Amino acid sequence: MALANLIDGAFVPARSGRSLPDYDPATGLQVATLPDSGAADIDAAVAAALRAQPSWAAVAIEERATFLERIADGLAAAASALARLETLDTGKPIDLSSTLDVPRAVRNFRFFAGQVRHDRTDAHHGSDSLNYTLRTPIGVVGLITPWNLPLYLLSWKVAPALAMGNCVVAKPSELTPLTAAALCEVVTAAGLPKGVFNLVHGTGPAAGEPLVAHPQVRAISFTGGTATGARVATTAAPLFKKLSLELGGKNPTLIFADADLPAAAAGAVRAAFLNQGQVCLCGSRILIERSVYEQVRDAIVTDTKALVVGDPMQQGTQLGALISPDHLAKVQGYLALARQEGGAILCGGDRPSLPPPLAGGAFLRPTVIDGLPPTCRTATEEIFGPVATVHPFATDQEAIEIANGVRYGLSASVWTSNLARAHRVSAAVHTGMVWVNTWLLRDLRVPFGGVKDSGLGREGGPHSLEFFSDTRNICIKL
Ligand code: NDP
Repeated sequence: MALANLIDGAFVPARSGRSLPDYDPATGLQVATLPDSGAADIDAAVAAALRAQPSWAAVAIEERATFLERIADGLAAAASALARLETLDTGKPIDLSSTLDVPRAVRNFRFFAGQVRHDRTDAHHGSDSLNYTLRTPIGVVGLITPWNLPLYLLSWKVAPALAMGNCVVAKPSELTPLTAAALCEVVTAAGLPKGVFNLVHGTGPAAGEPLVAHPQVRAISFTGGTATGARVATTAAPLFKKLSLELGGKNPTLIFADADLPAAAAGAVRAAFLNQGQVCLCGSRILIERSVYEQVRDAIVTDTKALVVGDPMQQGTQLGALISPDHLAKVQGYLALARQEGGAILCGGDRPSLPPPLAGGAFLRPTVIDGLPPTCRTATEEIFGPVATVHPFATDQEAIEIANGVRYGLSASVWTSNLARAHRVSAAVHTGMVWVNTWLLRDLRVPFGGVKDSGLGREGGPHSLEFFSDTRNICIKL
């Protein structure tokens, strides 16, 4: 399979003629090539987007919403093929691609079609004036997305950007180009005018960086690692671009003795290991009240050992491969560090032995580590793999201090049956999002994003529409 860029409505190779290999992380086999694009391809995509922008901005909101619905219909019609592509590219279980990644991508387009139709702006009536707010498109926006939820996160940005009348240049992760390429086909079949949606494949430094640096790209929505986010911000800031940064996390799961403990243990395991622990929201630090520590820890270990690791294409598999051998090596490096730091590996930590062609895949058993101080590197740095640490706490205050003792602040999951405690702890943890007695229960209308090193800005519902538009106040003297 040779993938192409979508620029000005045409499927084209990189101008340099170079390409990159794309691998299936479950087998190590090459599955496709993608354009190894650079600044010239970004320039062409931005030029096409600029040409298309005035007429796209003039398309009525109702009609733009109808385009989004057509894209949703196209994705829904291809759902099972898309789920297979996503699993092939990421190594994630097919059950996850089919129940989470693809349905959510469809929902993102349908949701923002509805959101933009029902959008409204403020009016302020004074004694001598009437002010009202107008939302205008920003122009050309750059969207940069990671490999962990490729179609899910790309659609989360594309849908609101188009809904608000912007033209798009998207740059997906070079590790997972397959569903982004499929989205290009769907968008084209939906009849979107040429140049409105452009997608340029390639690496971060060669293609991502020129997109961020391009002076005519007026906003960047970026999801990825914190170090990359800092680089994006450094490039974009002197150009005064609008910037949304959804970055890393080291999220706490706080389990209090008064919680429904079996549900809390099961919830903690799901939060730690969904998508092989490669979700920015994963709960990789499990804090358990001391009076029930052994009981809950042992239940977590039992539930973790029961997870089925294996062929991602097989129904029933719960953990597939990590994204790449390099990433596996990074995660294994943290296991070595955990041992050095005095941690005891209670389960996992090794690679399953799987038959060919999976023998060369980037698999790792889900790992639970006990006995580490909550301040050590293993317990405070983002590992982004199937590794969770467990820590006891004595008081609510201690739990909150541990939860807040990291540079990240994306999300937290609090398990308690005490309503007052739920409110108190939720207000005290420094994160952008808190779930109580659940994890990753998403309502697309709510603000999504982090504090501290987890990012800048909020997306979701009206927040996305606000990010992808400029706000103008109009004052009329009465
Ligand atoms: P990276 O930061 O490595 O990459 C993210 C995207 O940025 C990729 O498309 C990458 O391209 C691109 N990129 C890399 N360097 C540059 C650059 N200099 N300029 C512009 N773009 C660049 O993250 P990963 O793909 O490794 O994803 C994992 C990270 O994403 C984790 O830290 C995770 O926590 C975070 N994440 C955050 C989420 C959130 O909502 N807060 C959600 C999901 C993930 P390429 O890969 O092609 O090099």
